[in-house]
Amino acid sequence: MAVVNDPTVEKRRSLPMLGVRSLVPTRVSAGPPPRSVRVSVTDRCDFACTYCRPSRNDGYADGRLMTPAWKTMFEALRRAGVRRVRLTGGEPLVHPEIVAIVAHLSSLGFEDLALTTNASQLARLARPLRDAGLHRVNVSIDTLDPVRFREVTRGGDLDAVLAGIDAAIEAGFSPIKLNTVVLRGVNENELERILLWAWEKRLLPRFLEVMPIAEGAKLVADHLVTAAEMRRALDAHLLPEEAVTDPGLGPAKYVHARHDPALRVGFITGTSDTFCETCDRLRVSSTGVLRPCLATDDGVDAGAPARAGDAEAIVEQIGLAWSMKPDGTIWKGCTEETAAGVSMRAIGG
Ligand code: SAM
Ligand code: SF4
Repeated sequence: MAVVNDPTVEKRRSLPMLGVRSLVPTRVSAGPPPRSVRVSVTDRCDFACTYCRPSRNDGYADGRLMTPAWKTMFEALRRAGVRRVRLTGGEPLVHPEIVAIVAHLSSLGFEDLALTTNASQLARLARPLRDAGLHRVNVSIDTLDPVRFREVTRGGDLDAVLAGIDAAIEAGFSPIKLNTVVLRGVNENELERILLWAWEKRLLPRFLEVMPIAEGAKLVADHLVTAAEMRRALDAHLLPEEAVTDPGLGPAKYVHARHDPALRVGFITGTSDTFCETCDRLRVSSTGVLRPCLATDDGVDAGAPARAGDAEAIVEQIGLAWSMKPDGTIWKGCTEETAAGVSMRAIGG
């Protein structure tokens, strides 16, 4: 059983009973099995967003799981008690078999089956994905300016993304959440425009702080806009109420629109504040490594049993990976120094 970690980090601690080593302090008791899992179904992507990848030619991981191995992995997640799965990447929609993968996941009866996408391929795939049983879709869109969009994504076509969003609405996905990473000097002047455009389409906009993870680590010093600043910029449109999470549905904190209580906006504070104490996520990398935290390369390599079709062995490894979950009371998530070395695409952002 391969426990994967980064030997350059000094903070080491032996896990009791199992005799394996983890880089970070872990929870004393990991508690119930992970409820929520994010899967980087591929680390490939047709964009190279400035906060995620250094270039379009930065290369891809060897040993990505093929579809039969993913099926074994998903069966193991289900057996281990996982209730919610989100497919991400990389760009999940560049996976040639994404519809079949969703159909298989759907047949396993997860309570929630969602996908995060840059929407470049969503215009053609929204309907097939919906028919295959996908419940929800989140779309990343950082700007409504086509030139800026091309710059931030290093070549992306805004029109294709907008067509993808329209196709998702047409296919009946609801709610459709948006992710906008806000960067000072890049798109911070577009918050109001994006908010009003999203509300007009009955979408749920969410504004994210850039996190010091992967390429984002180079941007935080000069380009971080905190969620508090974002909220102040949108104050005129928001009710003066405390931002609150949707329990069990991730770290975003939501505020209602002043003019329509059915509309909300979310803020995600991955840098000015972390939310490790309440984190219930496990991640699966594109090569089949079970990763208990976004901000470290620690994990348990389940690629071999996935390829061998051994779901039972993976169930055991899920328990081990979960026991390596960092202690959320002292671990500061994406602000930890290990975060800069993590590949967002491989781990599944
Ligand atoms: N390719 C898909 C997409 O862009 O939606 C899914 C994968 S992407 C890694 C998932 C999310 O992570 C996107 O919303 C992206 O904006 C966000 N993300 C990537 N790097 C980030 C960083 N350094 N800080 C904050 N958010 C980041
Ligand atoms: Fe690709 Fe998503 Fe990373 Fe952008 S954020 S480079 S779309 S994986």
